[in-house]
Amino acid sequence: MRLVLFGPPASGKGTQGRRLASSLSLGYLSTGALLREHVENATPLGLSAKPILASGEYLPDELMFPILADWLDHQTGQTGWVLDGFPRSLPQAAFLDGWLEAHALKLDAAISLEVPYDELLQRMRNRVECPACRWTGQRGQLAHGTDCPKCGATASRRADDDEQNFNNRFTEFSEITLPLVKYYEDRKSLISVQATAPQDEVAALILAEVMEKASVSLPSNR
Ligand SMILES: [Zn+2]
Repeated sequence: MRLVLFGPPASGKGTQGRRLASSLSLGYLSTGALLREHVENATPLGLSAKPILASGEYLPDELMFPILADWLDHQTGQTGWVLDGFPRSLPQAAFLDGWLEAHALKLDAAISLEVPYDELLQRMRNRVECPACRWTGQRGQLAHGTDCPKCGATASRRADDDEQNFNNRFTEFSEITLPLVKYYEDRKSLISVQATAPQDEVAALILAEVMEKASVSLPSNR
């Protein structure tokens, strides 16, 4: 199964993408987490990406396409994947379609997470990330108020989470990513999910919609 997931900043993409991939035993790629890792490790890609990400802008396609193609090319033999953060523009969607066509594969569904602006802003102010295992969540989920609930490392506010940056990312999303809704609607692949409910409910909703769209059944032991 091959799925893409998109939504505005702080819509819960990372959490939901990981849960979906794990429920369906699929590979998972968060381009955002991957890029932040490159920035922290100061790789050549990270050095080019750092000022762009710091201002809340999207990385240009000439940087994104090779990263994506490389990751996808290494997924052979897997049962499929969930992409979180790609595509985030019409040219990127066309690139992905081209890659799929060249490999005689197809996309099963494109999931759009929908959350009102005011709630996104509130979530962003409370959002934390673990530098060790890349877990992301809300401040209230930390153990002892500071520790990652997954691995116990000290989690902190994400470096790209300030209000100006958030607003830039929200504007970029509205202008560049939102046209994907119609793109995937036209291709009958779109699943729109109201992502304001608690995490578990949203995860169950996404899974149910994906199963319906793909008309496949879960492995019996899950
Ligand atoms: Zn952790």
